[in-house]
Amino acid sequence: MVLFVFIKSLKKYLFNRKVFLSVLFLVNIYVWAPQFNGAGEGLLQIKFYSVGQGDSFFIKTPLGKNILIDGGPKSTVIGELSSDLGISNRVLDLVILTHPHADHLNGLFEVFRRFKVRQLVMDIGLSCNDLCSKFTSLIYQLGVPSWDVYAGQKIQIEKDLEIQILWPKDREGLLSATFLGDPNKGSIVFLLKYKKLALLFTGDIDIDSQNELVGDVLPDIDILKVPHQGANSGHNLDFIKELKPELAIISVGKNSYGHPSVEVINGYSNLGIPLLRTDKHGTIRIKSDGFKWWVNRD
Ligand SMILES: [Zn+2]
Repeated sequence: MVLFVFIKSLKKYLFNRKVFLSVLFLVNIYVWAPQFNGAGEGLLQIKFYSVGQGDSFFIKTPLGKNILIDGGPKSTVIGELSSDLGISNRVLDLVILTHPHADHLNGLFEVFRRFKVRQLVMDIGLSCNDLCSKFTSLIYQLGVPSWDVYAGQKIQIEKDLEIQILWPKDREGLLSATFLGDPNKGSIVFLLKYKKLALLFTGDIDIDSQNELVGDVLPDIDILKVPHQGANSGHNLDFIKELKPELAIISVGKNSYGHPSVEVINGYSNLGIPLLRTDKHGTIRIKSDGFKWWVNRD
């Protein structure tokens, strides 16, 4: 069972971490060596699934817990999950829905029908559209416990592995975002932290919300999930510069919105940050022992 521990002292912690890392941390990007494939025990594994135009990410913890972030635009995620969990295991310890838009939510219907989900974290505020209402009925029917989360809270997954919530700021912030009719603004943004490794998951957070985050103290990170399929509306150079990622990943598929935009691609390129995309590179896999990390792609 996932253990939830919430704290309120995140800001101070992030500040200390940033100072510490700027002095001591050396960047460790390695292309996944072939001999590494057999390893698994004690490693954190993250997959950025190639599921088309939307987001779906799978995390296997060092002690074997299974976590899913968003479900992508359709049930493609089922095939990916089935091969990652194996036939005998149909349990997801935690699912996080960053916001209730179809490209993040659609795939979750089938996930919840076919797998046992122990806990759900989501923020829907007042922006529960028809699709979202259908989903909340389903989880009510299945009896899956669900929680709202806000900045400053922490989900302790296991020793040395935690999720730190950075956004939405609070319930008031989430509600005002939904009053503006834009669930993207209320996307759950969180830091996945395993020892010295830090990844930031951003949902479809927009520039305004990012500006508010830049006003807080943001940590240096290793890997950034680029906001909103690489849309201009989520592209904020101040945000990227403050996070200083060593790698950026765009989850995107065939679309008519022009995602990812040329400005976004050039923005990362000008900053010298390598960019991987699920439409071009397929499912992107990260493994880490908490100090070094390895990336591989299809
Ligand atoms: Zn999206």
